[in-house]
Amino acid sequence: TKIARLILGDQLNSNHTWFETVQENVTYIMMEVRTETDYAIHHIQKVVGFFAAMRFFAETLRINNHNVIYLELNHKDNKQSFGANLEVLLSNGNFTHFEYQQPDEYRLDKILETFATQITIPTKVYDTEHFFTTRNELGTFFEGKKMYLMESFYRAMRKKHDILMDGTNPTTGQWNYDADNRKKLPKDHKPTAPMVFNNDVSDIVEMIFKTDCKTIGTIEAKQFLWPINREQTLELLDFFVTECLPLFGTYQDAMTPNEWSLYHSRLSFSMNIKMISPSEVVHRAIKEWEKHPETIEYNQLEGFVRQIIGWREYMRGIYWLKMPEYNSLNYFNHQEKLPDWFWTGNTKMNCLKDSIKQSLHYAYAHHIQRLMITGSFALLAGTHPDEVDAWYLGIYIDALDWVEITNTRGMSQFADGGIVGTKPYVSSASYIDKMSNYCGSCYYNKAKKVGDKACPFNSLYWNFYDKHEDKLAKNPRIGMMYKVWQRMKPEDKEALLQQADYYLKNINNL
Ligand code: FAD
Ligand code: SF4
Repeated sequence: TKIARLILGDQLNSNHTWFETVQENVTYIMMEVRTETDYAIHHIQKVVGFFAAMRFFAETLRINNHNVIYLELNHKDNKQSFGANLEVLLSNGNFTHFEYQQPDEYRLDKILETFATQITIPTKVYDTEHFFTTRNELGTFFEGKKMYLMESFYRAMRKKHDILMDGTNPTTGQWNYDADNRKKLPKDHKPTAPMVFNNDVSDIVEMIFKTDCKTIGTIEAKQFLWPINREQTLELLDFFVTECLPLFGTYQDAMTPNEWSLYHSRLSFSMNIKMISPSEVVHRAIKEWEKHPETIEYNQLEGFVRQIIGWREYMRGIYWLKMPEYNSLNYFNHQEKLPDWFWTGNTKMNCLKDSIKQSLHYAYAHHIQRLMITGSFALLAGTHPDEVDAWYLGIYIDALDWVEITNTRGMSQFADGGIVGTKPYVSSASYIDKMSNYCGSCYYNKAKKVGDKACPFNSLYWNFYDKHEDKLAKNPRIGMMYKVWQRMKPEDKEALLQQADYYLKNINNL
């Protein structure tokens, strides 16, 4: 037997059982292909980050005496798709077996499933040995239920994996500390400077610029800041648990100009391409808390653990339960394009300017910037979810379909009608001002609802509720808002709607 094993760009799990022994008759195949660089317009740092990590991984396999075939993007024999390359490689190498790990993305899953039916040699599919859950576990957990409540899934995960548990009860007696975790950053508070790397990736950047591969954003080719291997990932994890975890929960939702990552871990890229497993991350954080309970309060730890064993696994489960339909849901039937300035950050709205410019600069924004600034604005502006998905899928270094569309189309745009979220995440300026230091230096006036320099969030917010009353008024979590709206004087309502209409018509100039 001669076995060919495909490793996808987000399957860089060096602890996979595949690599436990070196087998002479096994060859690992990795490739950089245009079908992957071109399915969205990606941030340059995302394309480079993937290729740099893949190349490092392949090189490590070689050093460990595994057989490796690696096709670079500009290799003369590269046919630029998985199927076309595999066909040639399998036949030229006289392979008798083809093996791959379950892709996380529905599109690739189908491509490889179809490919397997077209070849004459047997195919075997393996688990990626990365997640806490299998693809269908969430579906089974919620079978027969109308609602897919993240909190009940999260508690079941805690019990099943015995994480922060005291027998069958949560350690401390309380499951969830979210209510303690919503502080604004004090004005004079200087957050810990983020740990960044200085990877020289100029060869990859040059290669990408030589092709006609379209990208967005900027990159420091000699000082690429993201981790590109397991060692750097472990360094970043160490930095996070020692320097950031003590304030992670407290400032998890906070936003402030020119501070791009605050106390967040920035481990999503490393985890999503499997340089590290969620279990390792969670257990490292728990270990640090056990060692230093005096500096790491429990609410900081619980908040972090919940994001990973709760939200991350939950989103993956929803994806596999609801695909392929999920990809085209559009509950509000929104049809607009994204404003042009989403691609430049050139808007007078300070919160959006800062969040978009930092995204273009770092290929990163933290959760609340994604949800309550860019996401909320796109929803208030009636943007088609396809447009919103394409933007998020391109711009963030951690953006992979399974976790991007569930967050964007689901949580942020409510285009799934309430599968992942119980209500749409929209706000007026008051929430943004409560959680950030953006409004003080903004061109717009956060307190004004109508008239010159009125903050656009204020009128667009009421316009959104007015427009979707039929779909939202019965939602118990937002019924109160409709009572406020109904009690408003007709002339005030009219002025708000007119202001919103003006902003929507002039959206590219905001
Ligand atoms: P931290 O704040 O340090 O959190 C720790 C980890 O928890 C993250 O690394 C991540 O793995 C996990 N996590 C936290 N929130 C979520 C969530 N809602 N869903 C899944 N995992 C979560 N995350 C992605 O990995 N890829 C995406 O493409 C993506 N797109 C998003 C789009 C929108 C509109 C929104 C609102 C959120 C999106 N998220 C996405 C979730 C979340 O914003 C990012 O995982 C997080 O900001 C990554 O930064 P971090 O590693 O510093 O996270
Ligand atoms: Fe954003 Fe409005 Fe605040 Fe300006 S005033 S930063 S537009 S919320």
